[in-house]
Parts: sequence; C-alpha cells; structure tokens
Amino acid sequence: MLPKAAVVVLHSQSKTISCWKCSEQTAPQIFCERCHSILDYRADSILSHFDILGVTERLVLDENELRNKFYELSKQLHPDRFAVSPAPAPQFALRWTTALNRAYKTLKSREDRTQYIIEKYLGHSSSAKKSTIPSDLAETYFEIQDLLTEGQSEPLLSFKKELEKKLAESDEQWIVLANTFDKTENKLAATQALRDHQDRERYLKSMLNDLERKVSL
Ligand SMILES: [Zn+2]
Repeated sequence: MLPKAAVVVLHSQSKTISCWKCSEQTAPQIFCERCHSILDYRADSILSHFDILGVTERLVLDENELRNKFYELSKQLHPDRFAVSPAPAPQFALRWTTALNRAYKTLKSREDRTQYIIEKYLGHSSSAKKSTIPSDLAETYFEIQDLLTEGQSEPLLSFKKELEKKLAESDEQWIVLANTFDKTENKLAATQALRDHQDRERYLKSMLNDLERKVSL
C-alpha cells in the first residue's frame, strides 16, 4: 500500500506538462523554467484566469497591477517575438495570447470577475433564479408597472432616484461581500452571498433600464 504522501505526489504529477524542447516536467505555465521555451497551453488547463495573469485570487484587486501584468505578458507573447521561432512555438504563443486576453477581459470587469468566481465555486447553473424578483423589490416593481401603464411621469422620476440610490448602496454592499470572500476560508458561503447580491443588482439595473427607456418615449 502506498503511503499517503506518495499518492499526493502522483496526483500532482498528473497536472504537470512536459517541455517539448528539453523534456522538463513542469507545472502548467507559460515558459519552461529550465530552457525558457514557451510551453503549450491546453484547453483543459487547470490554470485559472488569476493564475494566467499571475495574481492572487481576489475580488478586491488592484486594477493597475492587473493591467500591468497583462501588458507585460502580452509583450512577452507578442507574435513578433516568435516570428523566427521554430514550430510549435508561434502556435503556442497564440494560444496563450487568446487565454490571456480572455482572462484579462473577465477579471478587469467587477461584474464579470464576480460572475467568474460564482461559476467557479457554484457551477454554471448558478444564475437560474435571476428572473425572480427579489422580495424587497417586488412592491417597487409593481408600482412602477402601474405608473408606466397610467402614463404618469412625475412619480417615475422619484422612483428613478430611488433605484439609483439602491444601486449605489448595492455597490457598497459588493465591497463588503468581496472583502469577506477574499478573507474567509468558507468560500462557498461567501460565494452564495455574492450570487444573491449579483442577482439583485442585475434586477435593479434592468428595472432602471426599463424605466429610462419608457420614460424617454
Ligand atoms: Zn524546457
């Protein structure tokens, strides 16, 4: 029987890749630590968007740092640098660039970053209940619908202000929830709270859009 430690080593070895140039076994990453050749990027990579950009998984992050990492890596992966490299290096660089662009596009937006975390911890079907009106907004929603039907515009403007205020509050709540997520060991509970917040915020935004569209008619 294998001692427990050996099992762990075997498991982690299955997540290494072999350098095409020098055959070094290495963790999935952009460049080989031994010969500095570009390594393959595979679609089944275990690397998260945070891993690819070389930043710690956090929701409250330094956007300047993220942008700098992105530009630095983009430079290292630029096609010009691989113009005279033998195959498969140029192709690998292209794959990494695609993965890098996707990672940066997702992480630089607060909403997309939150959604990415939600899907990572709770799975893709996590927004199934987004069409349900959050209970504390139901009354406001139905009042808006009534006023829109009646064609009254003055009360609608005060509703618009109320929704804008709720959205500003929602923004502050996100910071609290995101900080909790970054610090807690219980990522699952923190993610569930973020999902509920995200659903509510989406609803607020769609109510506001609806209102703005109809009032301007
Ligand atoms: Zn190598």
